[in-house]
Amino acid sequence: MKSIYSNGVLRYVVIPGMLILTVVAVLNVFIYERELGFFSNIYNNEVAGTRAAMNRRFQSAAVAVESVRALFLSSETVTEEEFNSFGSILTKNIGAGVIAMPITIEWVDEQNKIRYIYPMDEDNARIIGLDLNQYPNRLIPINKAKATRSAVVTEPIMLGQGYPGLLLYSPIYKGDTYGGAALVVIRLANLVTPVPGSAPIYDKEEYIQTGNFIIPFDDDIVLNNNGERIINPQGDVVKDPIAEEYAANAPNVLSEDIVFADKTWQLKHSPTYITAVNTRMVYYGGFSVLFVLSVIIFLWVLHKRREQLLRETARTRALMMSIGDGLVACDKNGTITYANKKAEELSGYGMQESAGKSYYDVWRMVDANGVDIPRNERPFYRALTHKEVTHIGTESHLLIIAKGGTSFPIASTIAPILVEGRVEGAIAVFTDITKESDVDRMKSEFISLASHQLRTPITAVSWNAEMLLGGDVGPLNKEQKDIIERIHESGKNMSELVGGFLEIEKIEAGGFVIEKGDVDIVQTSESVVGELASQIADKKLHVVKKYGDAVPHLSMGTKTARIILQNLLTNAIKYTPAEGAVEITIEKSAGGVTISVKDNGYGIPENAKSRIFTKLFRADNAREKEPTGTGLGLYLLKSLVDKLGGKVWFESKEGVGSTFYVTLK
Ligand code: ADP
Repeated sequence: MKSIYSNGVLRYVVIPGMLILTVVAVLNVFIYERELGFFSNIYNNEVAGTRAAMNRRFQSAAVAVESVRALFLSSETVTEEEFNSFGSILTKNIGAGVIAMPITIEWVDEQNKIRYIYPMDEDNARIIGLDLNQYPNRLIPINKAKATRSAVVTEPIMLGQGYPGLLLYSPIYKGDTYGGAALVVIRLANLVTPVPGSAPIYDKEEYIQTGNFIIPFDDDIVLNNNGERIINPQGDVVKDPIAEEYAANAPNVLSEDIVFADKTWQLKHSPTYITAVNTRMVYYGGFSVLFVLSVIIFLWVLHKRREQLLRETARTRALMMSIGDGLVACDKNGTITYANKKAEELSGYGMQESAGKSYYDVWRMVDANGVDIPRNERPFYRALTHKEVTHIGTESHLLIIAKGGTSFPIASTIAPILVEGRVEGAIAVFTDITKESDVDRMKSEFISLASHQLRTPITAVSWNAEMLLGGDVGPLNKEQKDIIERIHESGKNMSELVGGFLEIEKIEAGGFVIEKGDVDIVQTSESVVGELASQIADKKLHVVKKYGDAVPHLSMGTKTARIILQNLLTNAIKYTPAEGAVEITIEKSAGGVTISVKDNGYGIPENAKSRIFTKLFRADNAREKEPTGTGLGLYLLKSLVDKLGGKVWFESKEGVGSTFYVTLK
């Protein structure tokens, strides 16, 4: 069974995935700590601000009540006018330092009746003369102040004006005479207004608690610890959902004490920023999970691609290993990166030995005379520098020198390795063609021998037939003449074949010397066309000649030029049906002179095209239409053109026609 450990998934996906996950988790913890620190800092600052504001407001209330008391102590009788002007001065600076919030000041006389109020408005006017003896929640603190001779503050209550507030009483004693109480009315909404300038980025839950009462920030209400709301100055209560919520949360809050008059007040707050931090962490966490998932998916895809690549590489290697030809791959510097078994066998260098070495050193190439092919003429070099693909065939007569110094002839194909058009290296495939070369040589030798031997008897046959036809031995009757003509025709064909073989043999053996000369190719063409006039007339062919202006002379002998033109024209005539058209064009071109012969004849079948220039090859359609022919003409033509450094090629479509091109310098 395949173990998970042998699986690349573990190595390339799971382990890196886990590592990234760990890094992300650690990072998230770190971020969480930072966020927590950030929020709690803001929170603590705001709490400190709130505490300071509360202290300031309480202090200013105390200052105000003591000032009112001092007013009464400083004068025998304080008139209402005096009280009002004092009040206006006192409250003028609200918010600017002396008094930190709007307040109302009052004087309650020794009978506990409200006598003076500043500022006066509709609400306050209603309670002038109000007898506080009816209100225990006022009377009790008044009496306490009277008894203790110090300031006393009520519980949070509903004021006669219709909103919740606090009353701060300070008893006025002139000696032992009680002169009523100075009173400051604080509206709760003014006491617990949010700290100016704070910009909370989370929900704050803050309230003030004193004894059994709760004063929430932001809501203008008074609650108690039993989940109830105080609804009127008498202190009646009703059940209230907000109050219930405060009562339920009471145990989770932080608390700080603030002393005011005779009571201790607790400023309470629950740090809800934890929720804000958690909300943020949900986003961070979400992004992190998404990130880790994308990384894992990316790794997975990468792993799959890698596996696929490995499989393909393995397949390619197996393929390269198994082919019967030698195969060598190099990088773009010509350093060997791979050689298959057969290549090792051929070169004599083992893979270990050749890897890293220069291709040119391991695979030395020499010509038929044993002369080293210079590096910049090597097909491998051309593949790397010019992206050229080269086929080395049997006719190239190139040899490789193996490790021990032995050499063998090769056929080879060399191609560049292109990645998006860039050369990344090159590959060479080699076949040892020692056997083929030997067979070829033996064949050539045999043909050459046979041709030489056949020449004399064939010439004799032709010569004797000619004599008979010429009537040298008396007249022949019709039947005899026909037979002798056929013998003469066959003799001519045979002698052409033998002649062809002998020409080729000369070329292949290197004995064919291209004669030097200076030939007017247009004139040669005219002469060849003239020689072929009877064949052209027999087939009623329409011949067009297109000669360009100032066609340069070619540096070769007339004989060579004639062979080239004869081959091109006889083929066009032979493989074009009666009344067809043949067009010969000769013109100056970039490489020298281009000759093209175009016909609208039988054409060359697709499957025959690659072999048209090989020795003895004739296409099936040509054999059918024209039984006579040797398959040597184009081979000879190409051998000549190659030797001259020219180029020959063709375009053809079966049933439409062919054009053969030759360029010569
Ligand atoms: P041969 O003409 O004696 O058969 P060649 O070497 O001249 O030999 O030509 C080889 C083959 O190429 C021909 O047999 C024929 O199949 C084909 N061929 C050459 N020229 C033409 C042409 N103009 N039109 C059609 N086929 C051609």
